[in-house]
Amino acid sequence: MPVPISQMWTVASYVIGQKLKGNKRYPLVLMLEPLFRCNLACAGCGKIQYPAHILKKELSVEQALKAVDECPAPMVSIPGGEPLLHPQIDQIVEGLIARRKYIYLCTNAILLEKKLREGLFKPSKYLTFSVHMDGQEEHHDFAVCREGTFQKASKGIRLAVDMGFRVTTNTTLFEGFDPNSVRAFFDEMMDAGVEGMMVSPGYAYPKAPDQASFMQERAKTNEAFETLLSNRDKRWKFNQSPLFLEYLMGKRHYECTPWGNPTYNLFGWQKPCYLLQDGYVDTFAELMETTAFDEYGKASGNEACQQCMVHCGHEPTAVDHTFSSFGGFFATVKATLFNRYANPAARRRLDAAKGRPHGPLVQLNLNIEKRKAQQAENADPQTVGAA
Ligand code: SF4
Ligand code: SF4
Repeated sequence: MPVPISQMWTVASYVIGQKLKGNKRYPLVLMLEPLFRCNLACAGCGKIQYPAHILKKELSVEQALKAVDECPAPMVSIPGGEPLLHPQIDQIVEGLIARRKYIYLCTNAILLEKKLREGLFKPSKYLTFSVHMDGQEEHHDFAVCREGTFQKASKGIRLAVDMGFRVTTNTTLFEGFDPNSVRAFFDEMMDAGVEGMMVSPGYAYPKAPDQASFMQERAKTNEAFETLLSNRDKRWKFNQSPLFLEYLMGKRHYECTPWGNPTYNLFGWQKPCYLLQDGYVDTFAELMETTAFDEYGKASGNEACQQCMVHCGHEPTAVDHTFSSFGGFFATVKATLFNRYANPAARRRLDAAKGRPHGPLVQLNLNIEKRKAQQAENADPQTVGAA
């Protein structure tokens, strides 16, 4: 099932309406975090590191819906933590559907099959399960630090698709990802019947335990995504702006739009974005009026933003570009119609990558290399010579 025309129309008419009103800063997707606790403990997670008394808390249905009523964004993403652990998640979803918001309920899908069999949700064009899948089975289970998670999530995806729900995947890619394996993963997800896929490089959360796995250099990130997303299989569908994917591939430059995906959670409205915590305010209006947005994004020189290419900051820029000019609109139409991106150099890199270790192996090798270097440093020079 493709993205419903009604959703495309709602988003397009909203953005055009904002432009006609002369609003330079408008939200596109509200990130509503109803809780931080999770039933996984991924090494790259920046949310589950809060102390236990915070992890036990959750937004009430009233708090969640009040935030939605304050923010005019036509789409609401519900990340976490794991939203399916929220005891009233069904009521939050119902409240959003009643307000005709297009919902992306982000889940690791461990509980998806159970909740669907319990009848917690009904299929709706407004509700999409956006399942966290970080690649093929071995890579996903390694990234989320638990075996069996891929199989559980896959069962949840297939059941949701069979029951008529909209299902997408969201994939965060880390340093040393295997492009051939991720491409095979795209095939698997299309076979499973998902509506579309989302990809993004990870952001180096200062709180995440595994800092080594984040992609730190833009040029490297661009090359990795160009290798991955060029020479596309025609079956692949991405639930993202095609211009944002071109940005990841290094074909265009976008600055961040930090107000594009405002975040509301237990602490209030988060300044300036989902990833950074430079304070909280009580209302959406206050967030828009008091945040020094000019101090964020690559061009601002802010250190925290220099390597960030994450979708929550840059996809709103791509969407805005589509509706800002004839050139942006034409580029979007072109990227939608001619989406194979034939690229012999990227194909050669893809072939070369087949013979190299990736993901968990690369990280293990890094450790081995580090250990070897340390051992060589500490070793008696005579012993090293004898060996
Ligand atoms: S599934 Fe998401 S929220 Fe849960 S630990 Fe992993 S990254 Fe964090
Ligand atoms: S560049 Fe990234 S970290 Fe900086 S404000 Fe934008 S989304 Fe947030």
